[in-house]
Amino acid sequence: MIDAGEELYSSLRRKFKGDLLRPGVSEYEEARGVWNGMFDRKPTLIARCADVSDVQGAVRAAADIGILTAIRCGGHSLAGFSTCDGGLVLDLSKMRQVTVDPETRRARFAGGCLLGSIDTATQKAGLVFPSGVVSHTGASGLILGGGTGWLTRRFGLSCDNVLGFSLITADGSLVHASATENPELYWALRGGGGNFGVVTEFEVKLHPLRSVVLAQGLCPEAGIRRLLEFWRSFMADAPLDLKWNIDLRLGQHAENVPVELRGRPVAGNSLVWTGDPGAGQPYLDCALAMCHKESVSSRMMPFLELQTMADMDFPHGRRYYTKSGYFKSLDDATIDRLLEAVATIPSSDTQIEFAYLGGAAGEPGADETAFGDRSAPFIMNLLANWSDPGADAGNIAWVRTLFRELRPAMKPGVYVNFMSGDEQDRVPEAYQTRWERMVAVKSHYDPGNFFRLNQNVLPRARVTDAAL
Ligand SMILES: Cc1cc2nc3c(=O)[nH]c(=O)nc-3n(C[C@H](O)[C@H](O)[C@H](O)COP(=O)(O)OP(=O)(O)OC[C@H]3O[C@@H](n4cnc5c(N)ncnc54)[C@H](O)[C@@H]3O)c2cc1C
Repeated sequence: MIDAGEELYSSLRRKFKGDLLRPGVSEYEEARGVWNGMFDRKPTLIARCADVSDVQGAVRAAADIGILTAIRCGGHSLAGFSTCDGGLVLDLSKMRQVTVDPETRRARFAGGCLLGSIDTATQKAGLVFPSGVVSHTGASGLILGGGTGWLTRRFGLSCDNVLGFSLITADGSLVHASATENPELYWALRGGGGNFGVVTEFEVKLHPLRSVVLAQGLCPEAGIRRLLEFWRSFMADAPLDLKWNIDLRLGQHAENVPVELRGRPVAGNSLVWTGDPGAGQPYLDCALAMCHKESVSSRMMPFLELQTMADMDFPHGRRYYTKSGYFKSLDDATIDRLLEAVATIPSSDTQIEFAYLGGAAGEPGADETAFGDRSAPFIMNLLANWSDPGADAGNIAWVRTLFRELRPAMKPGVYVNFMSGDEQDRVPEAYQTRWERMVAVKSHYDPGNFFRLNQNVLPRARVTDAAL
C-alpha cells in the first residue's frame, strides 16, 4: 500500500516548479530545521514552493490526501507550528519578492519574506513598514498574529498597516481580502494567525523614516523597583515617538557591561525615539537617569541598523519556551514578584521582556481587527532561552511557575505570537469578544480545519464534535 507521503510526492512532482525534499536528499536535513531547537521534527515531504501555483497545487493535493500540513514562512513560531512529524511542510522561503512604490508609499511582498528583505527594499526609498525587532523573523507569521516592534506606538501594529491580502484557501482557491473585498476575512487576517489559508502576498502602507535615536542603559538590581515604578507612570503620558522596552535579566559577561553588573540581576533599557532628535533627548536622559553611568549610550542610527542589532541575541537552534500576558497596570505586588524571579533566572540568556504599547496601536477600536487586546498597555513575555537539552525541565518550570503566580494580576488575553505550543486552551482567551466572529470566518473558509498548525480556531462542526 502506498503511504500518504509517497502519494503526495507522486501527485506533485510533474508540475511542481520549486523543490520537493524528502528524507535522504541532501538539502532535507537543513531544510527541516526551524528556529526553536525544541522542535526536531521530520516531515515526510518539504515542498519549497516557487510561486503561487505551486502553493495552490500543494494545498489541493495535501487536502485531498488529508495529510497534516505545516505552513512555513520564517520558521520562527515559538510554538513550533511550522514543522511536523510525518506530514507536509509547505515552505515559502523561495517566495521573497518585494515591490515598493515610493509615490503611493505602498509595497507588495510575497508570503515567504523575512523582515530583513522588506526593510532592505523599503529603506531604498526612505520608507518603513512597521514590523518586529529581529530581521530573520518571518513577516507572514508576525503580521498575521499582529506584529509589534520599535514603531508600534508611532505607526500601529504590522497588521494595522496591511491594505490587502492574497491567499490560497483550503480548497486551493486564490482569494483577495481587503476593506472592500471579503471584508470579514480581511478583519480576521489582521490578528487571526494562519487559520484561514496560505497568504501569498501582502499589500501594505509605508511611512517615511530613515534613522532613529537609540538610547540604552542597565539599571542595577537595587534600582529596578524604582525604575519600574517610574516607567509605569512615565509611559502613560509619553509621546508617540518614544518606545521604551525593559528586559529583566542577568547582566551579561560582556565587555560593554560594567564588571559589577555581570551575572547580577539588571533591568536592560532600550529606548527608540523616532522624532526630532533634539526634542527626544530630554525624555531619553530622564528615562536613563537610574542606570549605571558606564552602561548608558545614546546615538542616532540608520533604521536598518536598528532592525538588525538584536539578530545575534536570538540565534537559530537554541531552545526556547515562552508564556505571555497583558497587564492593565503594573502593581507593586507584581513588581515584588518580578524582582524575586529575576534573581532565580535559570539561564543567562533568559529574560522577562516588557513593552509598553498604547499610542497608535491603541487607536483602532477593539472590534476593528481580530487582534487581541489593545487596551492593556503593558505586554510581558517570559522568554526562556538555553542550549542544553538537560536543562529543559528547569527552564520550562521556571516560566510556568512565574506565569502561574503573576496570572491573577494580569488582564485576560494573550498575544498569539508569544504563545507556546502547549497553550491551545488559551486561544479563545486571545480573541475574547471576537471569538464567535473568528469561528464564523474559520468555518466559512476552512470548514475541515486543514490549517490547524497554528493558534487554532476550530471551525463550527469541529467545535460540536469536540463537545460530544
Ligand atoms: C527571534 C524572534 C523575534 C521575534 N520578534 C518579534 C517582534 O519583534 N514582534 C512580534 O510581534 N513578534 C515577534 N516574534 C514572534 C513572531 O511574531 C512569531 O514567532 C511569528 O509566528 C514568526 O513568524 P514566521 O513567519 O517566522 O513563523 P513560521 O514559524 O514560519 O509560522 C508561524 C505561524 O504562521 C503561519 N504562517 C506562516 N506563514 C504563513 C503564510 N504565508 N500564510 C498563512 N500562515 C502562515 C504558520 O502556519 C504558523 O502557524 C519574534 C519571534 C522570534 C523567534
